[in-house]
Amino acid sequence: MKAVVTGGGGFIGSHLVDELLASGIEVHIIDNLSSGNEKFIPEEAHFHFADIRKEQTKEIILKVKPDLVFHLAAQADVACSVADPIYDAAVNITGTLMVLDACREASVKKIIMASTAAVYGLNDKLLISEEEKPDPVSGYGLSKWAAESYVRYYYQMFGLRYTILRFANVYGPRQTAKGEGGVIAIFLDRIKHNHPLIIHGNGEQTRDFIHVKDIVRANMAAIDHGDQETIQVSTAQKVSINQLFGMLQSIREAPIESAYTSGRAGDILHSCLDNKKARYLLKWKPEMDIWNGLQNTYASVVKHD
Ligand code: NAD
Repeated sequence: MKAVVTGGGGFIGSHLVDELLASGIEVHIIDNLSSGNEKFIPEEAHFHFADIRKEQTKEIILKVKPDLVFHLAAQADVACSVADPIYDAAVNITGTLMVLDACREASVKKIIMASTAAVYGLNDKLLISEEEKPDPVSGYGLSKWAAESYVRYYYQMFGLRYTILRFANVYGPRQTAKGEGGVIAIFLDRIKHNHPLIIHGNGEQTRDFIHVKDIVRANMAAIDHGDQETIQVSTAQKVSINQLFGMLQSIREAPIESAYTSGRAGDILHSCLDNKKARYLLKWKPEMDIWNGLQNTYASVVKHD
Protein backbone atom coordinates (compact mmCIF):
# COMPACT_ATOMS: atom_id res chain seq x y z
CA MET A 1 0.00 0.00 0.00
CA LYS A 2 1.15 3.56 -0.79
CA ALA A 3 0.26 6.72 1.15
CA VAL A 4 0.90 10.41 0.65
CA VAL A 5 1.14 12.47 3.84
CA THR A 6 0.83 16.20 3.24
CA GLY A 7 2.47 18.05 6.12
CA GLY A 8 4.53 14.94 6.92
CA GLY A 9 7.43 17.13 8.05
CA GLY A 10 5.32 18.72 10.78
CA PHE A 11 4.56 17.84 14.39
CA ILE A 12 1.61 15.45 13.93
CA GLY A 13 2.41 14.42 10.34
CA SER A 14 5.90 13.20 11.19
CA HIS A 15 4.59 10.92 13.96
CA LEU A 16 2.04 9.55 11.51
CA VAL A 17 4.77 8.94 8.93
CA ASP A 18 6.74 6.90 11.49
CA GLU A 19 3.71 4.72 12.20
CA LEU A 20 2.82 4.20 8.53
CA LEU A 21 6.39 3.13 7.78
CA ALA A 22 6.37 0.78 10.77
CA SER A 23 3.19 -0.78 9.32
CA GLY A 24 4.97 -1.50 6.04
CA ILE A 25 3.26 1.23 4.03
CA GLU A 26 5.25 3.13 1.36
CA VAL A 27 5.17 6.79 2.40
CA HIS A 28 5.51 9.93 0.28
CA ILE A 29 5.64 13.27 2.09
CA ILE A 30 4.57 16.55 0.52
CA ASP A 31 5.73 19.48 2.62
CA ASN A 32 7.22 22.93 2.00
CA LEU A 33 8.74 22.95 5.51
CA SER A 34 7.18 26.34 6.29
CA SER A 35 6.58 25.11 9.83
CA GLY A 36 7.87 21.54 9.52
CA ASN A 37 11.39 20.35 10.11
CA GLU A 38 13.58 18.26 7.82
CA LYS A 39 15.10 16.47 10.80
CA PHE A 40 11.69 14.86 11.54
CA ILE A 41 11.65 13.18 8.12
CA PRO A 42 12.92 9.59 8.17
CA GLU A 43 15.18 8.34 5.38
CA GLU A 44 12.75 5.54 4.49
CA ALA A 45 10.11 8.09 3.45
CA HIS A 46 10.12 9.69 -0.01
CA PHE A 47 10.25 13.43 0.55
CA HIS A 48 8.80 15.85 -2.03
CA PHE A 49 9.57 19.45 -1.21
CA ALA A 50 6.44 21.11 -2.56
CA ASP A 51 3.70 23.59 -1.81
CA ILE A 52 0.12 22.29 -1.68
CA ARG A 53 -1.11 25.52 -3.27
CA LYS A 54 0.85 24.78 -6.44
CA GLU A 55 0.34 22.46 -9.44
CA GLN A 56 3.52 20.60 -8.47
CA THR A 57 1.49 18.92 -5.71
CA LYS A 58 -0.97 17.58 -8.25
CA GLU A 59 1.88 16.35 -10.44
CA ILE A 60 3.43 14.48 -7.51
CA ILE A 61 0.17 12.81 -6.50
CA LEU A 62 -0.55 11.84 -10.12
CA LYS A 63 2.91 10.33 -10.43
CA VAL A 64 2.90 8.51 -7.08
CA LYS A 65 -0.71 7.25 -7.47
CA PRO A 66 -1.17 6.56 -3.76
CA ASP A 67 -3.98 4.43 -2.33
CA LEU A 68 -4.42 6.87 0.56
CA VAL A 69 -3.81 10.55 1.22
CA PHE A 70 -3.51 11.85 4.77
CA HIS A 71 -3.99 15.60 4.48
CA LEU A 72 -2.30 17.40 7.37
CA ALA A 73 -0.46 20.25 5.64
CA ALA A 74 -1.97 23.49 6.87
CA GLN A 75 -1.43 26.95 8.17
CA ALA A 76 -2.20 25.89 11.76
CA ASP A 77 -1.45 29.06 13.71
CA VAL A 78 -4.57 30.90 14.93
CA ALA A 79 -2.74 34.21 15.46
CA CYS A 80 -1.30 34.06 11.93
CA SER A 81 -4.78 33.42 10.52
CA VAL A 82 -6.01 36.60 12.22
CA ALA A 83 -3.02 38.63 11.02
CA ASP A 84 -3.01 37.24 7.47
CA PRO A 85 -6.35 35.64 6.57
CA ILE A 86 -5.53 35.64 2.85
CA TYR A 87 -2.44 33.47 3.32
CA ASP A 88 -4.37 31.26 5.77
CA ALA A 89 -7.18 30.72 3.27
CA ALA A 90 -4.75 30.13 0.40
CA VAL A 91 -3.03 27.28 2.26
CA ASN A 92 -6.02 25.79 4.04
CA ILE A 93 -8.71 26.21 1.38
CA THR A 94 -6.96 26.47 -2.00
CA GLY A 95 -4.26 24.03 -0.86
CA THR A 96 -6.89 21.51 0.23
CA LEU A 97 -8.67 21.91 -3.12
CA MET A 98 -5.43 21.21 -4.97
CA VAL A 99 -4.93 18.03 -2.93
CA LEU A 100 -8.57 16.96 -3.43
CA ASP A 101 -8.44 17.54 -7.15
CA ALA A 102 -5.23 15.55 -7.42
CA CYS A 103 -6.89 12.71 -5.45
CA ARG A 104 -9.81 12.73 -7.86
CA GLU A 105 -7.58 12.60 -10.95
CA ALA A 106 -5.30 9.96 -9.45
CA SER A 107 -8.28 7.79 -8.33
CA VAL A 108 -7.09 7.81 -4.71
CA LYS A 109 -9.15 5.35 -2.64
CA LYS A 110 -9.56 7.57 0.40
CA ILE A 111 -8.50 10.92 1.89
CA ILE A 112 -8.16 11.35 5.67
CA MET A 113 -8.21 15.01 6.62
CA ALA A 114 -6.97 16.66 9.82
CA SER A 115 -9.46 19.20 11.15
CA THR A 116 -9.85 20.97 14.43
CA ALA A 117 -11.97 21.92 17.45
CA ALA A 118 -11.42 25.53 16.31
CA VAL A 119 -14.41 25.13 13.96
CA TYR A 120 -16.66 25.45 17.06
CA GLY A 121 -15.41 28.93 17.95
CA LEU A 122 -16.55 30.20 21.33
CA ASN A 123 -18.92 27.29 22.04
CA ASP A 124 -17.96 26.30 25.57
CA LYS A 125 -20.56 23.60 26.22
CA LEU A 126 -19.24 21.12 28.78
CA LEU A 127 -18.92 18.47 26.09
CA ILE A 128 -19.18 19.30 22.39
CA SER A 129 -20.46 16.61 20.02
CA GLU A 130 -20.15 16.42 16.24
CA GLU A 131 -23.82 17.46 16.04
CA GLU A 132 -22.90 20.93 17.26
CA LYS A 133 -23.00 23.60 14.56
CA PRO A 134 -19.58 25.04 13.70
CA ASP A 135 -19.30 28.77 14.35
CA PRO A 136 -15.63 29.69 14.02
CA VAL A 137 -14.22 32.94 15.37
CA SER A 138 -10.79 32.84 13.70
CA GLY A 139 -9.67 32.73 10.09
CA TYR A 140 -8.12 29.36 10.94
CA GLY A 141 -11.39 27.84 12.23
CA LEU A 142 -13.17 29.25 9.19
CA SER A 143 -10.65 28.00 6.64
CA LYS A 144 -10.52 24.51 8.15
CA TRP A 145 -14.32 24.34 8.15
CA ALA A 146 -14.39 25.43 4.49
CA ALA A 147 -11.74 22.78 3.72
CA GLU A 148 -13.90 20.15 5.46
CA SER A 149 -16.85 21.23 3.33
CA TYR A 150 -14.81 20.77 0.14
CA VAL A 151 -13.81 17.28 1.30
CA ARG A 152 -17.52 16.40 1.69
CA TYR A 153 -18.28 18.03 -1.67
CA TYR A 154 -15.64 15.93 -3.48
CA TYR A 155 -17.36 12.80 -2.19
CA GLN A 156 -20.82 14.00 -3.27
CA MET A 157 -19.60 15.15 -6.68
CA PHE A 158 -16.84 12.68 -7.51
CA GLY A 159 -17.17 9.80 -5.02
CA LEU A 160 -13.83 10.45 -3.30
CA ARG A 161 -14.12 8.57 0.01
CA TYR A 162 -13.08 10.42 3.13
CA THR A 163 -12.86 10.60 6.89
CA ILE A 164 -12.55 14.00 8.54
CA LEU A 165 -10.92 13.90 11.98
CA ARG A 166 -11.45 16.91 14.23
CA PHE A 167 -8.63 16.93 16.75
CA ALA A 168 -8.78 18.48 20.22
CA ASN A 169 -5.59 20.18 21.56
CA VAL A 170 -2.75 17.93 20.49
CA TYR A 171 0.56 17.79 22.37
CA GLY A 172 3.67 15.64 22.42
CA PRO A 173 7.30 15.47 21.33
CA ARG A 174 8.31 17.60 18.28
CA GLN A 175 5.62 20.24 18.83
CA THR A 176 6.97 23.75 18.43
CA ALA A 177 6.18 26.45 20.98
CA LYS A 178 3.81 28.23 18.58
CA GLY A 179 0.67 27.46 16.65
CA GLU A 180 -2.58 25.86 17.71
CA GLY A 181 -3.03 24.35 21.15
CA GLY A 182 0.62 24.91 21.90
CA VAL A 183 0.35 25.77 25.61
CA ILE A 184 2.13 22.58 26.68
CA ALA A 185 4.90 23.15 24.15
CA ILE A 186 5.18 26.79 25.26
CA PHE A 187 5.35 25.85 28.94
CA LEU A 188 7.98 23.17 28.33
CA ASP A 189 10.06 25.53 26.23
CA ARG A 190 9.97 28.14 28.98
CA ILE A 191 10.85 25.58 31.66
CA LYS A 192 13.77 24.45 29.53
CA HIS A 193 15.05 28.04 29.28
CA ASN A 194 14.29 28.85 32.94
CA HIS A 195 11.67 31.46 32.09
CA PRO A 196 8.54 31.91 34.24
CA LEU A 197 5.33 30.40 32.86
CA ILE A 198 2.82 33.07 31.80
CA ILE A 199 -0.76 32.17 32.68
CA HIS A 200 -3.50 34.27 31.06
CA GLY A 201 -6.50 35.05 33.28
CA ASN A 202 -7.05 33.00 36.44
CA GLY A 203 -5.78 29.74 34.94
CA GLU A 204 -9.13 28.01 35.42
CA GLN A 205 -9.79 27.82 31.67
CA THR A 206 -9.79 24.20 30.49
CA ARG A 207 -8.69 22.27 27.42
CA ASP A 208 -8.96 18.71 26.16
CA PHE A 209 -5.30 17.72 25.70
CA ILE A 210 -4.68 14.66 23.56
CA HIS A 211 -1.31 13.01 23.03
CA VAL A 212 -0.01 12.83 19.46
CA LYS A 213 0.33 9.01 19.63
CA ASP A 214 -3.43 8.73 20.18
CA ILE A 215 -4.01 11.03 17.21
CA VAL A 216 -1.79 8.80 15.07
CA ARG A 217 -3.76 5.70 16.15
CA ALA A 218 -7.02 7.42 15.14
CA ASN A 219 -5.58 8.22 11.70
CA MET A 220 -4.51 4.60 11.29
CA ALA A 221 -7.98 3.40 12.34
CA ALA A 222 -9.53 5.69 9.72
CA ILE A 223 -7.83 3.69 6.94
CA ASP A 224 -10.49 0.99 7.33
CA HIS A 225 -13.23 2.72 9.31
CA GLY A 226 -15.34 5.87 9.48
CA ASP A 227 -16.02 6.38 5.77
CA GLN A 228 -17.86 9.64 4.96
CA GLU A 229 -17.88 10.66 8.61
CA THR A 230 -16.64 13.67 10.56
CA ILE A 231 -15.26 12.38 13.84
CA GLN A 232 -13.78 14.10 16.87
CA VAL A 233 -10.53 12.73 18.29
CA SER A 234 -10.19 13.73 21.91
CA THR A 235 -9.87 12.52 25.49
CA ALA A 236 -13.26 14.05 26.50
CA GLN A 237 -11.49 15.11 29.72
CA LYS A 238 -10.90 18.70 30.69
CA VAL A 239 -7.68 19.88 32.28
CA SER A 240 -7.24 23.43 33.55
CA ILE A 241 -4.10 25.47 32.96
CA ASN A 242 -3.59 25.55 36.74
CA GLN A 243 -3.78 21.75 36.88
CA LEU A 244 -1.29 21.56 34.03
CA PHE A 245 1.04 23.85 35.93
CA GLY A 246 0.72 21.70 39.07
CA MET A 247 1.53 18.52 37.13
CA LEU A 248 4.59 20.13 35.56
CA GLN A 249 5.86 21.14 39.01
CA SER A 250 5.46 17.54 40.20
CA ILE A 251 7.26 16.17 37.16
CA ARG A 252 10.08 18.66 37.58
CA GLU A 253 10.23 17.95 41.32
CA ALA A 254 11.04 21.62 41.87
CA PRO A 255 9.07 24.85 41.99
CA ILE A 256 8.50 26.60 38.68
CA GLU A 257 8.06 30.35 38.55
CA SER A 258 4.77 31.60 37.13
CA ALA A 259 3.16 34.96 36.36
CA TYR A 260 -0.56 35.59 35.95
CA THR A 261 -1.55 38.23 33.36
CA SER A 262 -4.95 39.54 32.31
CA GLY A 263 -7.07 37.19 30.19
CA ARG A 264 -6.89 37.52 26.41
CA ALA A 265 -9.91 38.93 24.57
CA GLY A 266 -11.73 36.25 22.58
CA ASP A 267 -10.08 33.33 24.39
CA ILE A 268 -12.46 30.40 24.84
CA LEU A 269 -12.87 29.40 28.46
CA HIS A 270 -13.58 25.71 28.04
CA SER A 271 -13.04 23.30 25.18
CA CYS A 272 -13.81 19.62 25.54
CA LEU A 273 -14.84 17.27 22.73
CA ASP A 274 -16.94 14.16 23.08
CA ASN A 275 -15.28 11.02 21.68
CA LYS A 276 -18.15 8.51 21.63
CA LYS A 277 -18.32 8.57 17.84
CA ALA A 278 -14.61 7.79 17.52
CA ARG A 279 -14.94 4.94 20.01
CA TYR A 280 -17.88 3.49 18.11
CA LEU A 281 -16.92 4.06 14.48
CA LEU A 282 -13.12 3.93 14.60
CA LYS A 283 -12.99 1.26 17.35
CA TRP A 284 -10.53 3.67 18.95
CA LYS A 285 -10.07 5.11 22.42
CA PRO A 286 -7.41 7.36 23.89
CA GLU A 287 -4.69 5.40 25.66
CA MET A 288 -2.33 8.08 26.99
CA ASP A 289 -3.62 9.99 30.01
CA ILE A 290 -2.41 13.54 30.61
CA TRP A 291 -0.06 12.55 33.45
CA ASN A 292 1.82 9.92 31.42
CA GLY A 293 1.64 12.03 28.27
CA LEU A 294 3.14 15.04 30.03
CA GLN A 295 5.93 12.95 31.52
CA ASN A 296 6.73 11.53 28.09
CA THR A 297 6.74 14.98 26.49
CA TYR A 298 8.71 16.58 29.32
CA ALA A 299 11.37 13.87 28.99
CA SER A 300 11.72 14.41 25.26
CA VAL A 301 11.63 18.22 25.26
CA VAL A 302 13.25 19.36 28.48
CA LYS A 303 15.72 16.57 29.13
CA HIS A 304 16.86 15.38 25.70
CA ASP A 305 16.14 17.99 23.04
P1 NAD B 1 2.56 21.79 11.89
O1 NAD B 1 2.65 23.23 11.56
O2 NAD B 1 3.64 21.17 12.72
O3 NAD B 1 2.41 20.92 10.57
C1 NAD B 1 1.90 21.44 9.35
C2 NAD B 1 2.84 21.00 8.24
O4 NAD B 1 2.31 21.50 7.01
C3 NAD B 1 4.24 21.57 8.38
O5 NAD B 1 5.20 20.55 8.19
C4 NAD B 1 4.33 22.64 7.29
O6 NAD B 1 5.63 22.82 6.81
C5 NAD B 1 3.38 22.05 6.25
N1 NAD B 1 2.83 23.09 5.37
C6 NAD B 1 2.29 24.29 5.74
N2 NAD B 1 1.93 24.98 4.64
C7 NAD B 1 2.23 24.19 3.57
C8 NAD B 1 2.11 24.36 2.17
N3 NAD B 1 1.58 25.49 1.63
N4 NAD B 1 2.52 23.37 1.36
C9 NAD B 1 3.07 22.22 1.88
N5 NAD B 1 3.23 22.03 3.18
C10 NAD B 1 2.81 22.99 4.04
O7 NAD B 1 1.15 21.59 12.59
P2 NAD B 1 0.50 20.32 13.31
O8 NAD B 1 0.18 20.74 14.68
O9 NAD B 1 1.32 19.11 13.07
O10 NAD B 1 -0.87 20.23 12.51
C11 NAD B 1 -1.11 19.21 11.54
C12 NAD B 1 -2.58 19.25 11.16
O11 NAD B 1 -3.38 18.98 12.32
C13 NAD B 1 -3.05 20.59 10.62
O12 NAD B 1 -3.94 20.33 9.55
C14 NAD B 1 -3.78 21.23 11.78
O13 NAD B 1 -4.79 22.11 11.34
C15 NAD B 1 -4.35 20.01 12.47
N6 NAD B 1 -4.61 20.21 13.92
C16 NAD B 1 -3.59 20.40 14.81
C17 NAD B 1 -3.89 20.54 16.17
C18 NAD B 1 -2.82 20.74 17.21
O14 NAD B 1 -3.18 20.89 18.39
N7 NAD B 1 -1.55 20.75 16.88
C19 NAD B 1 -5.21 20.50 16.60
C20 NAD B 1 -6.22 20.32 15.66
C21 NAD B 1 -5.91 20.14 14.32
